[in-house]
Amino acid sequence: MTDIKELLLSRIRDVADYPEPGVMFKDITPLLADPAAFTALTDALAEIATETGATKVVGLEARGFILGAPVAVRAGLGFIPVRKAGKLPGATLRQAYDLEYGSAEIEIHAEDLTSADRVLIVDDVLATGGTAEAAIHLIQRAGAEVSGLAVLMELGFLAGRARLAPALGEAPLEALLQV
Ligand code: AMP
Repeated sequence: MTDIKELLLSRIRDVADYPEPGVMFKDITPLLADPAAFTALTDALAEIATETGATKVVGLEARGFILGAPVAVRAGLGFIPVRKAGKLPGATLRQAYDLEYGSAEIEIHAEDLTSADRVLIVDDVLATGGTAEAAIHLIQRAGAEVSGLAVLMELGFLAGRARLAPALGEAPLEALLQV
């Protein structure tokens, strides 16, 4: 493992049985509090934005905002939030997706993307891939192209990568860390 990956991994705290029994929560707040680690993460994700030819960065509520916004600034790109339904004031596109129990909806401001845009989606953790899949559909419905999906950590045992393959097509899924 590279020094940067070791640094990032060392700043993620495992919290057992949070927010519910059986879940090992990956807490990134120690990483955010460490300027060297946060800068290394921002630089690594910004490199992916540049390499994939992104014109915009989309962050997924809520930790995708914390990571995605500095990535957009570092890469010289605009940032667009994908929010839980009911939080954006303008005209939105809305996408529903299934959770383990029930379903959820996310939204994007329809006017934020055009057919000329290539979008890098940023989030902290890829688990089942349901949230990212819904975000990909939103971006595509807005007429834009997905340049890639970049996450800090992929939980491989939940098989999100396989789930996302059809929606991502040729666009890469880059996970800095895999467990
Ligand atoms: P999923 O849609 O199942 O891929 O879940 C991804 C979203 O839930 C991301 O926005 C993550 O922030 C959050 N998430 C899911 N599982 C975890 C976990 N074990 N630790 C931290 N965040 C998680």
